[in-house]
Amino acid sequence: MFQNSEESRTSLSEYGEFGLIDHLTSGFPINRESTVKGIGDDAAVIDHKDLQTVVTTDLLVEGVHFDLSYMPLKHLGYKAVMVNLSDVYAMNATPEQITVSFAVSNRFPVEALEELYSGIALAAKIYNVDVVGGDTSSSTSGLIISITALGSAKKEDIVYRSGAKVNDLLVVTGDLGAAYMGLQVLEREKQVFKVNPQSQPDLEPYTYLVERQLKPEARRDIPGLFKALDLKPTSMIDISDGLSSETIHLCKNSKTGVNLYEEKIPLDPAVISVCEEFQLDSTTIALNGGEDYELLFTVAQSDFDKIKGNPNFTIIGHMTEENERMHLITRANQKIELIARGWNAMGKED
Ligand SMILES: [Mg+2]
Repeated sequence: MFQNSEESRTSLSEYGEFGLIDHLTSGFPINRESTVKGIGDDAAVIDHKDLQTVVTTDLLVEGVHFDLSYMPLKHLGYKAVMVNLSDVYAMNATPEQITVSFAVSNRFPVEALEELYSGIALAAKIYNVDVVGGDTSSSTSGLIISITALGSAKKEDIVYRSGAKVNDLLVVTGDLGAAYMGLQVLEREKQVFKVNPQSQPDLEPYTYLVERQLKPEARRDIPGLFKALDLKPTSMIDISDGLSSETIHLCKNSKTGVNLYEEKIPLDPAVISVCEEFQLDSTTIALNGGEDYELLFTVAQSDFDKIKGNPNFTIIGHMTEENERMHLITRANQKIELIARGWNAMGKED
């Protein structure tokens, strides 16, 4: 997985800018009723009728956000879409359209962009969003991708970061830290490969972790589950930077404090064992690793019965008065101030 395939290389210059976009986007269907006009005019036309529109955008830069020596381009395309859809679900909304823009240097052949677009197309198909526009440019170095997602929701269903109340329960979906540890495994294999290019990595024991890093899935099931449970969170955010910084975002926007319990943080057994192998503290990884794309939200205590025992949800803490500040309660029952370090400060070279 660490070598460049030289099988077929069509130079970008064989297509002009417009030819390239046409070539890459020609197969995209329009499935959403709200897409009035997709690709092919100066702008797309969207009609969300009486629903509110949510818009979110993300920029991914080679060497900063991804490393193509272990990130296959198809996976990169898929992940770039997930990052955006996750933000739409975090508003308790339904994603409907995306636009895709990229800048690329001529070291990439057309086939590489076809790979990238096959991942985008797969994500669009599975998550039922229309690709309705985009732009392309040349870049002097590397690949830059920007995706914008549009979604819709009833006004009364939209959940902001700012609605948490004192005594609300803090809840997270899924488990945390796996994507970051997947990245650590891939980085280690890359270093091994540099020294010995004949080595073939055995990633089998790390399948779950590597998959969480290379092929994350946004939690599209959660807004529907809320509806089925007749539950509206009081605040919500998705976990892209890490549990710690996202919890702080909810507290600051809602003007509350928090007590977050270390022993409650959901960890997959694979994360616990690989943390031992790398001699890393699994709580630190869950708090600061990021890229989990799970949802973190708060609910009123009176809604406890709606979430208890549900395998999708783990209650990890509760909101407190703002002047009580934000704390992690350790297994040893110590109170530590919650700080946001994010993945940038995790020893990753920028
Ligand atoms: Mg977000």
